Amino acid sequence: MAHRVTLIPGDGIGPELAEATTRVLDASGVAFEWESVVAGEAAIAAYGTPLPDEVLASVRRNKIALKGPITTPVGAGFRSVNVALRQALDLYANLRPARSMKGLDTRYENVDLIIVRENTEDLYAGIEHMVGRDAAESIKIITREASERIARFAFEYAVANGRRKVTAVHKANIMKLSDGLFLESCRTVAAAYEGRVEFEDRIVDNMCMQLVQKPDLYDVLVLPNLYGDIVSDLCAGLVGGLGVAPGANIGIDTAVFEPVHGSAPKYAGLDRANPTAMILSGALMLRHMGYPDEATRVETAVRAVIAEGTQTTHDLGGTTGTAGFADAVIARLGATPAIR
Ligand code: NAD
Repeated sequence: MAHRVTLIPGDGIGPELAEATTRVLDASGVAFEWESVVAGEAAIAAYGTPLPDEVLASVRRNKIALKGPITTPVGAGFRSVNVALRQALDLYANLRPARSMKGLDTRYENVDLIIVRENTEDLYAGIEHMVGRDAAESIKIITREASERIARFAFEYAVANGRRKVTAVHKANIMKLSDGLFLESCRTVAAAYEGRVEFEDRIVDNMCMQLVQKPDLYDVLVLPNLYGDIVSDLCAGLVGGLGVAPGANIGIDTAVFEPVHGSAPKYAGLDRANPTAMILSGALMLRHMGYPDEATRVETAVRAVIAEGTQTTHDLGGTTGTAGFADAVIARLGATPAIR
């Protein structure tokens, strides 16, 4: 029986990445029925809103979605559809693995980090206002419930995946109440895993330096929303850039899989963007759906094409297009590329 999955192609490079990724997943051995819905800039033109009700209804119905990046205007304009989706569906955990790949020109060879980012609160709660004309306030919300929940997710992930250590990242020396509560919550949860998973904490600025100098010292990182967003891009940079960094937004019974990167509008429609991040997000989805062997096959095929180095995209120094890269991955999977 085919699995019905919501597909949100998104903006900019999103549609071509979605096309490449669904072709790879269709060749993985798992049968999919893609329910494609429109969100972002295209939805404004058609429905007058970047997040039509049908998008949320579809994800709620199918419980699983594959999503391309969606543009968010800087400064004025509509609020982030990405943040709205995560909040509306209570996708509280943002999982972003950063793992080195052979064939990529990077500073380190054996980076293997898991970033677990709290996805529903912090400064992303979107509570901002002007104070007069010349001052602005953004409210940072940290709750014990959300902090303990994300810490538990990080430790459970560590146990399930044989990881040795969880590091909580914060700025509790300055934000003693908000980040202090996050750290206290992580410590409370860590106590229940003593003897099974190590625990330590790092101040976020020091963490950034340590990750750049000695990434091998770290394993699973758990962070509040904003630091998680920034540190995961740093970690993406350690393993080859945003073009290869996958992600998952996971809730209690619903999950949305999407690359870490944005809509890169300057490459839209040029068959130039790297679909690796979205294909690897698809592999995370396969694993989440209970298909670990198929997930590994897709990951191995992607890694093989990148290691070989003759059919990589422009960001990795190659000349192959988005669709051509997907064809190369499909060929490695042992299937015939579907007709486009
Ligand atoms: P971006 O990730 O789109 O681009 C940053 C840099 O990485 C650019 O140089 C871009 O060309 C490159 N890049 C990104 N993905 C790539 C890929 N697959 N292949 C090759 N190169 C790639 O970030 P930005 O420019 O800061 O943001 C553009 C838009 O995306 C903004 O509107 C932003 O709000 C949005 N955004 C959305 C998401 C999301 O949907 N989850 C995440 C981040 C940013």
